[in-house]
Amino acid sequence: MTFAELANQGILTQPVYEAGKPIDQVARELGLDPAGIIKLASNENPFGPSPKAVAAGERALREAHLYPDGGYYALRQKLAQKWSLGMDQFIIGDGSNEILELMGHAFLSPGAECVMHQSSFIVYKLVTLMFGAKPVEVPLVNMRQDLPTLAAAVTPRTRLIFLGSPSNPVGTSNTAAEVEALVRALPPHAILVFDEAYAEYAEHAPDLRPLIAAGHKVICLRTFSKIYGLASLRVGYGYAAPELIAIVQRARQPFNVNGVAVAAAMAALDDHEFVATCIAENRAGMLQLETALKKFGVEFVPGAGNFLLAKVGDGMWVFNELQQRGIITRPVKPYGLPEWLRITVGTRAQNERLIGALAEVLKSRV
Ligand SMILES: *Cc1c(COP(=O)(O)O)cnc(C)c1O
Repeated sequence: MTFAELANQGILTQPVYEAGKPIDQVARELGLDPAGIIKLASNENPFGPSPKAVAAGERALREAHLYPDGGYYALRQKLAQKWSLGMDQFIIGDGSNEILELMGHAFLSPGAECVMHQSSFIVYKLVTLMFGAKPVEVPLVNMRQDLPTLAAAVTPRTRLIFLGSPSNPVGTSNTAAEVEALVRALPPHAILVFDEAYAEYAEHAPDLRPLIAAGHKVICLRTFSKIYGLASLRVGYGYAAPELIAIVQRARQPFNVNGVAVAAAMAALDDHEFVATCIAENRAGMLQLETALKKFGVEFVPGAGNFLLAKVGDGMWVFNELQQRGIITRPVKPYGLPEWLRITVGTRAQNERLIGALAEVLKSRV
């Protein structure tokens, strides 16, 4: 028998997750100096982690010989204060991606269906297929997530509905009224997984806590990988009804998140000034990119997060041309959007460089 025959069939149906290219890899492939390369491909924070988070992580590293508190008491307590929820309403994950997977462990089996939009975050589909469930994808309407269409795709077999707020890679979000109508329309056998990875950046992020309190089946996911600048440490969290959290806690490993990440995350939560600066810089950078794209006559989807989607024509070609010039962006062809390029908002200087290179690339095309 081959290994493939021996494998769980759900594993074999997994689409390959194509991450943003690491700087070192691009440097190797193109013979460029890594110091001259900028990465605007993975929606990372261009200002790095908060210095306070770095200091806390360094201190925690000295305790690396001890297992972390597997209950993550201190972090859950801090989050409970921040959100005015109970400590038993939080689960800590090895990135919020792990919590997506834990939702699969807890609630999916062959025959189940998961509803999501086309061109949504690939991990939703990955998790669905891993557990032998069936992804049901509904189309975007004018590049927006249409929630009545999403609700209409729910069947008696639906267990999870994935919704990004803002979505990735498209970058749009729905109004609080739209999301509330969706939640109220869901049958009792379906759980909304509300992915708020970029919510800190958004001007109007729906607050689903009242719906959770009212007994609706919702889990919200947050991450320290984006505005908090801790992507490499892998830490995120989910909040929901205590009964839902208790089930998902059963699916995780005892020490799923490392102590360095937890210490850094706790310090990051306290650094309000850093977060405020990143939000302000992101707004300014978004405007900088939008202004340039308008000038170039390039259509774009205004992003509610820290990235935007630009309709550049042949996305792969423009991606390659920019990469030759030391700028890594993200082609979104794997998401069924071959004409578009996803660009993370960088620092003012990084954006400037991208705009200059893009002008050159677009000109060379005609
Ligand atoms: C980045 C991102 C996440 C968070 O991933 P982590 O595992 O926390 O690093 C979740 N959802 C979406 C849509 C994202 O883009």
